[in-house]
Amino acid sequence: QTVIEFRDVVRTYGEGEALQYAVNHINFTIDKGEFVVILGQSGAGKSTVLNMLGGMDQPTEGEVIIDGATISNMRDKQLSDYRAEKIGFIFQFYNLIPTLTAYENVALTKSIVKNAASADEMLAAVGLADHKDKFPSQLSGGEQQRVSIARALAKKPQIILGDEPTGALDSETGVIVLELLQKLGKEHGNTVVIVTHNADIAKCADKVIRMKNGKISEIVINENSLPVR
Ligand code: ADP
Ligand code: ADP
Repeated sequence: QTVIEFRDVVRTYGEGEALQYAVNHINFTIDKGEFVVILGQSGAGKSTVLNMLGGMDQPTEGEVIIDGATISNMRDKQLSDYRAEKIGFIFQFYNLIPTLTAYENVALTKSIVKNAASADEMLAAVGLADHKDKFPSQLSGGEQQRVSIARALAKKPQIILGDEPTGALDSETGVIVLELLQKLGKEHGNTVVIVTHNADIAKCADKVIRMKNGKISEIVINENSLPVR
């Protein structure tokens, strides 16, 4: 079941002599529950794709269709509702609030989103029940990223987007975070899309969308994507 579709999507910056294609006529689909890695070197257009997927940016041409809705036609208010309802974000540097405990960082979602999952339940799902009262500065990088995953999951998003979510972690800790994302996607049916320049990470994906100079150079489907190690 297709949940994400990019149809002939273009995103340019500048005009005239300075016109530049960040994303140049790309097409792909992603199924519900898939774990997808968008792979490419710096400047390939990965973040631009992720931003359009998350409703933070709009294409210059083409359509972005999520769960049957053409979000590329949406106005700001509708788009921010889409983002709030359907998308969970994780970031390279976690973006936790330093003055709140792990529990409070996750519980914050409940004050914003109706029907959010309990912070205790989400912290348990990422294996951090025992660390709930620690502040971000008292947690390792891997643990902070797991808190950020718990926070993203708490609003029960259909789609989880990550921009280099293991970029600040050593490879061993990165693997733990990837396994968690993979597992949560499989268990809860979340569709997970992460962007990275690290080809090792692509090994654990169900689908790898490789980008180069704003275009898709290759889409690889891994029938046997598990396990990460
Ligand atoms: P990646 O995430 O793969 O590193 P990006 O999507 O960030 O690539 O960028 C793709 C191209 O678009 C790059 O050449 C970048 O310089 C250009 N670009 C991205 N955002 C902007 C912007 N706001 N203004 C001008 N050019 C941009
Ligand atoms: P991970 O494998 O998740 O990166 P570590 O092995 O680095 O975890 O950390 C193990 C323990 O040490 C954790 O329980 C964490 O709370 C604690 N710890 C790690 N880094 C720090 C830090 N900078 N300040 C306080 N405690 C830390």
